[in-house]
Amino acid sequence: MTATLPPSSGNASTAPTGAPTRHGTVQNYIGGAWVASEGPLIEVRNPGDGSVIALTPLSTAAAVDPAVDAARRALPGWAAVPIKERVQVLYRYRALLEQHVDELTALIVEEHGKVTAEARAEILKAIELTEFACSLPQIATGEVLEVSRGVECRTERHPVGVVASIAPFNFPSMVPHWTIPNAIALGNCMILKPSELVPLSAGRIAELLERAGLPTGVFNVVHGGREAVEAICDHPGIAAVTFVGSTRVAQLVYRRGTASLKRVLAFGGAKNHLIVLPDAEPEMTSSNVAASMAGCTGQRCMAASVMLAVAEVDDVVARVVEHARRLVPGETLGPVISREAKERIERYITEAEAAGARVLLDGRSVVVPGREGGYYVGPTVLDRVTPDMGIAREEVFGPVLAIIRASTLDQALEIEAGSPYGNAAAVFTERGATARYVAERATAGMVGVNVGVPVPREPFGFGGWGESAYGVGDITGRGSIEFWTRTKKTTTKWNREAGTNWMS
Ligand code: NAD
Repeated sequence: MTATLPPSSGNASTAPTGAPTRHGTVQNYIGGAWVASEGPLIEVRNPGDGSVIALTPLSTAAAVDPAVDAARRALPGWAAVPIKERVQVLYRYRALLEQHVDELTALIVEEHGKVTAEARAEILKAIELTEFACSLPQIATGEVLEVSRGVECRTERHPVGVVASIAPFNFPSMVPHWTIPNAIALGNCMILKPSELVPLSAGRIAELLERAGLPTGVFNVVHGGREAVEAICDHPGIAAVTFVGSTRVAQLVYRRGTASLKRVLAFGGAKNHLIVLPDAEPEMTSSNVAASMAGCTGQRCMAASVMLAVAEVDDVVARVVEHARRLVPGETLGPVISREAKERIERYITEAEAAGARVLLDGRSVVVPGREGGYYVGPTVLDRVTPDMGIAREEVFGPVLAIIRASTLDQALEIEAGSPYGNAAAVFTERGATARYVAERATAGMVGVNVGVPVPREPFGFGGWGESAYGVGDITGRGSIEFWTRTKKTTTKWNREAGTNWMS
């Protein structure tokens, strides 16, 4: 089936204020058709200037049923297609992503506020994730072994069935691509529930997958918030759910999804610590720390949030401030997602200052000329933060670095281990033995050595520990193969002369 309407019709849609919106009203994509949702509409704003660019529905549970039905209908046919044929769709999809990279980048800039280079990097990462899925026929293979004389045991991978992927706002394209290509290459049919703050990229993903030849119903999009998510968790027709977002909601989704007997992988928030030692190379270290804390305006789960400054590293601290100071809000530093986010981040800074932290660089009250309605927070560096302060313990999710002074490496490691989160940690040092010492002790699933944003690239899997991830395994790379498949074990004997023993 071909699309009957574009994802946002672009006509006759007005914001609740009455003004027309650029992208109209966002629609669900179910069984290859664009369908208006019955749920209430909310405004989607461009965080760069605060303007309303679209309306998006908060779909009710009733919208999830037809999406599951469409996916169920598509499942037997799609699961029966050999994997080498299934990935042909993804080869074509990858080419379409490349062809549309500028337009997809611009859409992320508009709905999320990222600067162009960061939005483009997100699409390039979506391409890399799709490339990995194209390689799955080579690595998601089964096994055969003669397990006793004349008896062969064979495993093969089968899809889990109808699956769902629930995404956060901070990567409108990359995080959905953590799950979509692998899940569908492995024969599943999917329902994507994008963040209601950034619903537009999902529509383009659906359109391009359709153009690449994905059969109707294999991929569906249901827009919404809490009600749609709860309906996904409860729906008996959905076999597996992935979630990426805050820890509070990850826990809700994990509990609710597993209570209805689904496979669930739920990724939560983060509080990442970068340990800087006195022997660290000052320039490389400071540029890495600044890029990690302010890249994507600090709105990534791998962002440096706390720098643990061990002993005398004042030179690095001074250089971090200089690197951060060079970032220009509105040019090289994007806005945060909403007015509420800006106010929350500024509150953390103010409270830390009141509690005794020293503000070395202050990003509060930033206004970008010509974009006065945008939600900008400038790069902020706070020194002499103590581990008990809110800014040291909680996820801030903005371009803010809290520096905690530690007199020894073990003291720094103790502070790192005190965080309930466990996404990323990093160490900056020139000594291999020190790096190894930290890598062995850090309580995080992803560790960087002289790398500020230690994202494992494919074929390695992405996944944290502690309150950053619930469920078994990683969400990308090889690790995801287990999540998106179930194995069938077949034991066979054809040669009767092999006789019978205790197991056959
Ligand atoms: P969020 O938890 O507010 O929202 C995530 C999703 O959950 C959205 O689709 C939203 O509609 C839905 N949702 C929101 N409230 C809900 C509720 N009460 N019940 C059910 N569903 C609900 O997260 P966000 O603000 O969109 O994203 C930022 C967060 O995501 C940060 O905490 C960040 O660290 C985290 N994140 C984690 C990773 C990781 O790999 N661990 C990656 C990216 C982002």
